[in-house]
Amino acid sequence: MKHFNADLHLHSRFSIGTSPQMDLPHMSDAARIKGVDILGTSDCLYGPWLEELESSLEKSGDRYEFEGIAYVIEAEVETTVGGRVHHLILFPSFSSAHELRDIILEHGYSQLTSGRPQLKIAPEGLFSLVRDVGALVGPSHAFTPWTSMYAAYDSIHDCYGENAKHVTFLELGLSADTQMASKLAELDSCAFVSFSDAHSPSPEKLGREITRFALRRASFREINRALQGVNGREVVLNVGLDPREGKYHLTGCRRCKKAYKLEDIIIDGRVLKTCPGCGGPLKIGVKDRIRLLTLKSHELSVARRPPYVHAVPLMEILKAMKQSQRMNVKKVYEALIQRFDNEIAILIDAPLTSVEQQHPQLAEILARFRRDAIDFEFVGRGGWYGKIKI
Ligand SMILES: [Zn+2]
Ligand SMILES: [Zn+2]
Repeated sequence: MKHFNADLHLHSRFSIGTSPQMDLPHMSDAARIKGVDILGTSDCLYGPWLEELESSLEKSGDRYEFEGIAYVIEAEVETTVGGRVHHLILFPSFSSAHELRDIILEHGYSQLTSGRPQLKIAPEGLFSLVRDVGALVGPSHAFTPWTSMYAAYDSIHDCYGENAKHVTFLELGLSADTQMASKLAELDSCAFVSFSDAHSPSPEKLGREITRFALRRASFREINRALQGVNGREVVLNVGLDPREGKYHLTGCRRCKKAYKLEDIIIDGRVLKTCPGCGGPLKIGVKDRIRLLTLKSHELSVARRPPYVHAVPLMEILKAMKQSQRMNVKKVYEALIQRFDNEIAILIDAPLTSVEQQHPQLAEILARFRRDAIDFEFVGRGGWYGKIKI
């Protein structure tokens, strides 16, 4: 079995608010520098992009590839019946993606005129459609307080109904990690995946969260097996941001950025929607959302989970280091990539002694990351990203 780093949730240049460089050449170049072996195609239900993918990706057996990077046919959709929820769909083939497109258009669930389409259907119905074309679906950024499963529903069963027991994966999203999500016993049969949801090929976005799989080769079929943990295929590692960096870790005010403890904003059993300080919009953080959900259930999780390593993009670390010392961030970055081949090797796998030879201060910072001993200047809340202290 070989290890593959995968980032299977991206958005192409056809989605709203994305970089015009989200095309296959730029995405593939970025993946190589990051050390990502398998990318999601993004937005494959959108006609013009699907056409471009079909004419550009090479197929060998059940594996798709562009210039040495493997691709899984992928799209994110939003269901709008019963609340707005985002779902990640992984397809075995282009024909499967076409089948789903045809069904969606035929039934008028959507006109499919954007990269991430809104479908007039409930999650349970979506699950059945996706299963019928041989594809996989699970909640994306499941804990985000907008457009996510746990924003709209209190349980995976409420969301997917009778199909909940067949959901094989859940995307953690930038504001949650395995430690937080595994408090929910109802998720025991789902593999946790971490992907970037990148809107640009910048090394600070693409691959900022990845899932490492043990597979025979980089294909949908193998990933499907790994998500179910069969025949030695499995998820071996999640890598992602410290949830404190995410925009919605704590409960906080969008306007004045003040953080609140859960007990201070529950009045007469109701959670306040506006900031007691300034009247701005208050958003429940992921940490508190999970606490509220676990208060309802007394089941304990028994799932064995692979480790989740907190990491931030190397460029971000170098930029923070630059505040206290003169350096050419771009040059240092390029020299490090040249020496270690890719970014994930530097952040996760390289022996610290060899990083030390190249850059002693960076080795010190990475040591703190790998021990999970990073401090924060500002913990994310209310839509504001957290800021690490270097
Ligand atoms: Zn989304
Ligand atoms: Zn406020």
